[in-house]
Amino acid sequence: MELQNYIKESLNIKDPNIIFDDKMETHSTHREYHAKLDYNPPKCPACQGQMAKYDFQKPCKIPYLETVGFKVLIRLKKRRFKCKACGKMTIAKTSLVRENHQIPNIINHKITEKLMSREAMTKIANDLSVSVSTVYRQLDRHEYQTDLNHLPQVMSWDEYAFKKGKMSFIAQDFESNKIIAILDGRTQAVIKKYFMRYSYKIRKRVKVITMDMFSPYYDIAKSLFPNAEIVLDRFHIIQNLSRAMNRFRIQIMNQFDRKSHEYRALKRYWKLIQQDSRKLSDKRFYRPTFRAHLTNHEIVKRLLSYSDELKQHYELYQCLLFHFQEKQTEHFFGLIADTIKEVNPSFKTVFSTFLKDQDKIINAMMLPYSNAKLEATNNLIKVIKRNAFGFRNFTNFKKRILIALNMQKERTNLILSRC
Ligand SMILES: [Zn+2]
Repeated sequence: MELQNYIKESLNIKDPNIIFDDKMETHSTHREYHAKLDYNPPKCPACQGQMAKYDFQKPCKIPYLETVGFKVLIRLKKRRFKCKACGKMTIAKTSLVRENHQIPNIINHKITEKLMSREAMTKIANDLSVSVSTVYRQLDRHEYQTDLNHLPQVMSWDEYAFKKGKMSFIAQDFESNKIIAILDGRTQAVIKKYFMRYSYKIRKRVKVITMDMFSPYYDIAKSLFPNAEIVLDRFHIIQNLSRAMNRFRIQIMNQFDRKSHEYRALKRYWKLIQQDSRKLSDKRFYRPTFRAHLTNHEIVKRLLSYSDELKQHYELYQCLLFHFQEKQTEHFFGLIADTIKEVNPSFKTVFSTFLKDQDKIINAMMLPYSNAKLEATNNLIKVIKRNAFGFRNFTNFKKRILIALNMQKERTNLILSRC
């Protein structure tokens, strides 16, 4: 008596109608417990007549949560009842497992919990001693319901590769980080079809959409969301500028002999040229390239002394970085307009894009929104994707992403359909 109470308690099984045998088998891979499910005969569900105890079903195998390091299997025998009046047979019910199911509810909850992590489907199945298809079945139970009466005021848009060569579209609520849309494809038609399900009134509420530079979505965003300002991602704007600087440094570097001191110095200290000059460190170290103790500032000064052109472009680049960070939009674009005719082609192409997207870049400078949060989400998606060899199917993949990203935040949108 005592041992079986102990077993029940350690397995945290609440159903008073489940009685464990005292014997328990320890195998090399798992422990097996034997139990019976029995209670007084209920009324017949068909005729309301009195039922009587019949025999026990042959035991069903129930994989259970691991306890003290052992995987657990419960062999549960369920009582069968037979109606005295109409002869109907029923099987005893328990809160441990759903009717006609083998997997305990608690395991299904555990699966859901693990689906919110980034673990691989196979690992989840393995850890909980269930089959991979059980994990997929639990995934399938989650239904994502789109609330067509709500769109966030601020959204971020991006794309990511679902499979090699197959791009998908993703939209996220900037404030809550909730995923608004994961679409199988990223064409204008796909995006339009998705957002047109929201009424014009709801779409009009969207105030800001952040996206990367060179995004193909400018026009569709404007037509779907008439009141939305497009904000380009700050990081990408700076990245474009910094790449132009880098391309130009390489050009200058290649004018020198590969064995020359100038070539080696320009190659070795490329990062210092990219860096915001206000952030250069003033610590002095011995620099073998120069055979001298120099600060980063002094190194940059020497590098720039190799070429007037490099010096001019460097100073222009640093000015632009400064104006951008200080939100001096007029200085930023004034400088671009004044110099676009004279700068090296590597800068020229970037400048003309900047001028073309001027309004969206000004938004990036003045408004506190960026794509950084969606970027973080995309990294999480990458991890899930890497762990998910089974996701040949976009719907499953999407469900997994939504559980991982939306579920902790707002459980109401994810409905557990049965369970
Ligand atoms: Zn009956």
